[in-house]
Order: sequence, then structure tokens, then C-alpha cells
Amino acid sequence: MNERIRLEVVEFMPTQLEPGVLYVSEKYRTSAHLCACGCGEKVRTQLGNLGWRFTKGRAGPTLYPSIGNWQKPCRSHYFIRDGRIHWQGNWSDEEVLEGRRAEEMSRDAYFNTQREDRWSLFERWLKRWMGRS
Ligand SMILES: [Zn+2]
Repeated sequence: MNERIRLEVVEFMPTQLEPGVLYVSEKYRTSAHLCACGCGEKVRTQLGNLGWRFTKGRAGPTLYPSIGNWQKPCRSHYFIRDGRIHWQGNWSDEEVLEGRRAEEMSRDAYFNTQREDRWSLFERWLKRWMGRS
């Protein structure tokens, strides 16, 4: 398990990631690192409005919110704060569900406006169609 992670600013994500390095491409608003538990899984995080908040900091990089790898076999969960890994313990089955739900909810909130638009179009179409028959 890693205790520290250092920042490497890149334009494109390298194909081979080194453990203990957080690669950040500010241009493409994405970051990648190898799971801090040492399992070798690549963790990609999207930065920006829909994703993680990234700050450089003098002591090291910070990502917020936490990294929750519930979709990976190791299920590790940690914060990256000031270049340090703060372990949160593994996800239980319940927390995995919770996490997924929270993820879906934030996505829903974001796409709701678009969905409503589409829904009202459909409704109008349906009314027209029903009026005809
Ligand atoms: Zn892992």
C-alpha cells in the first residue's frame, strides 16, 4: 500500500503508469494513477464539473472527493490529500451499492434538464398521436 503519491503533469496519459504517481492532464481534464493498494489497476478520474476537484498544493496533489474503487476487485477507498494517501478501508457490499447510487444520482441531476426536454417532446408527440386516434 502506498502512503504517498506525487504529481506528474502530463499532456497525454502514458500507457505505462508508475506506482505512487498521480498523472494529471489539465488540458484534457483527466487524471490517472495506479491503485494505491498495489493491485496494479489503473484508476482514471475525470476532473472538472462532473468529476474530481484537483488542487496542486505545495506538499503534493489533492483530489476531492475520495477515490472509491468499488468496481475493482480490491475495492479500496482512499483520499489523496496533499500528496498523501488517507486510507478509508475497503467498501462493504452495502457501501458499494450506496456509492453506485450516489454516482447515479449526481449523473441524473446533471442530465435531468435534457431528459425533461426530451420527455416533454415525447409527451407532446404522444398527445398528438392519441388525439388522432
Ligand atoms: Zn487496488
